[in-house]
Amino acid sequence: MSGLEEFKEELETCFGTSCGFCERGCPVYQDLKVKTLCMRGRNRTMLGLLQGKFEITPAVVQAAFECTLCGNCDRWCALKNTDHTQAFREYLLKHGVEPMKEHSSLALSLKNYGNPWFQPRSARNRWTKGLNIPKAAPAQQEVLFFAGCTSAVTKPLNRSLVATARLLQKAGVKFSTMGQDEPCCGSTLLRVGQTDAFNELSAANLKKFQALGIKKIVTACPGCYTTLKKSLEGAGSKIKVTHAAQEIAQLVKDGKIKVKKSTERMTYHDPCHLGRLGGVFDDPRTIVESVATLVEMPNNRYESRCCGAGAGLQTAFPKLSKNLAFKRTAEAKATGATTLVTSCPFCETQFRTIPGMKVVDLMELLLDSSQDIEKNNGQNKKAI
Ligand code: SF4
Ligand code: SF4
Repeated sequence: MSGLEEFKEELETCFGTSCGFCERGCPVYQDLKVKTLCMRGRNRTMLGLLQGKFEITPAVVQAAFECTLCGNCDRWCALKNTDHTQAFREYLLKHGVEPMKEHSSLALSLKNYGNPWFQPRSARNRWTKGLNIPKAAPAQQEVLFFAGCTSAVTKPLNRSLVATARLLQKAGVKFSTMGQDEPCCGSTLLRVGQTDAFNELSAANLKKFQALGIKKIVTACPGCYTTLKKSLEGAGSKIKVTHAAQEIAQLVKDGKIKVKKSTERMTYHDPCHLGRLGGVFDDPRTIVESVATLVEMPNNRYESRCCGAGAGLQTAFPKLSKNLAFKRTAEAKATGATTLVTSCPFCETQFRTIPGMKVVDLMELLLDSSQDIEKNNGQNKKAI
């Protein structure tokens, strides 16, 4: 038993319960109020397909793909709802449903360029220019900084990578990158239901990491973080996977990165894959609180609302995706904060499309603050 069949009992449990608790935090349901687009309705659709009561129609395909896989429904329910939805997508593709054209182009780009954004492989390494970071080689560096496709090949998102690398270097952390040879983590494939291609890619990635003698992978992107962590642990690998926010927060706490605290009020948006799905809530807040006053949005931590960029929604359902970004930005503005801080390239891109709120990446924020303190120290020394 595999794929969607594996979850049949869970689907039956949902059908029997039908409590609807999952509706309250579902950003898609709250925006569209369509019953088949929240988990209760989606589970019922999947069960109907498995029981042979439903056929695959355009509405069924929409129910599978109009979801950000943000995991908010899992917060209110004992069932593994986001896993159901991923299996639902895989089921449809295996039953002859063509991938949505927006999603098939992501997979095509991945195949030809090693990233989902049609950027040449050489673009992956551009951000490292002038940083003097060694390239991973067997038995050289045990810590690998994993940039991730989206930030590596996209300006200005790659500024976050530069900031992270500089912060690690300032604190004396030794690390390497895979440069142009860094592979995609496969998150995109997984989220759009291309499970076989994802499994193939994951197995190849593990071999590459093992050949280099990597003991720890520090990811910049929350999507890479949950994807690599789950796939490496699932394969029984001992390679530890962390997110840069965890590493850098510890360096701040240890006093290895000195920062200057301002009186500015800032709010922090938990990216779904770092927060609710990755369980990393405190470390980014440690960083924000080291440089500013943190004011929370009412929906924070486990209850944070998705920015709308996840799981292919941004490419396949742009209007809905934008609405979700607008709503989340409105929550941020209502806190009275001057700045919305986040730590995910997808969230950052989303929020930058909504006017009226300054959006800052967590690592850039910290680097700027640590440079301010160095500038001040330099001026003080001159004065002495
Ligand atoms: S998915 Fe969970 S919370 Fe939603 S109706 Fe089913 S059992 Fe209830
Ligand atoms: S994963 Fe998020 S968007 Fe999808 S059904 Fe659950 S709460 Fe709604």
